[in-house]
Amino acid sequence: MNDETINEMIIKCPVCGIEGVAKSIMKELEIPHFGQVMETTIQCPSCGFRHSDVIALEQNDPAKYVLEINKNTMSVRVVRSQSATVIIPEAGVKVEPGPKSEGYVTNVEGVLTRFEDAVIKALNLFEDEESQKNAKATLEYIRELKKGNETATLIILDPFGQSNVVSDSVETFDIPEEELRELKTGFAHIEDN
Ligand SMILES: [Zn+2]
Repeated sequence: MNDETINEMIIKCPVCGIEGVAKSIMKELEIPHFGQVMETTIQCPSCGFRHSDVIALEQNDPAKYVLEINKNTMSVRVVRSQSATVIIPEAGVKVEPGPKSEGYVTNVEGVLTRFEDAVIKALNLFEDEESQKNAKATLEYIRELKKGNETATLIILDPFGQSNVVSDSVETFDIPEEELRELKTGFAHIEDN
């Protein structure tokens, strides 16, 4: 994967509003068998705000990608756009697009690390014993997956075809019309009447 920083600038932070501290980095990445993507990262050292997104420069059809997570697929390249839903059914974890969701380019191991971090955060929020127990079991399962001791399924659904899982072992499906309507896109829903 070649990557090239094409633009780096210091901007006003969109969260704390302090001028001249936040760094915005735009990178163009060439993903083999997928094409060009633009990755944007904003980091503010003052308030800790961090956001990243990826935009595929070539538009694809809506698609559902299904890959088995095992020790051989840990380094498979994953492009998750802000509009994609990411599910690991066996672990009972799912990330849906929302205003704060991030687009990123990573690999399967990186996706597992993001889920691991999310579960650790949830562990600190839950107070009841039942939720604590469930979160701990999920965490343990994700860690076993990372070590290659377990297998599971990674499902990525993207209504705008901006995401991809780049592997010979990935299965690609169309998203049925009804399922497409139910997918969250990350945009606020506006009633048209
Ligand atoms: Zn800030």
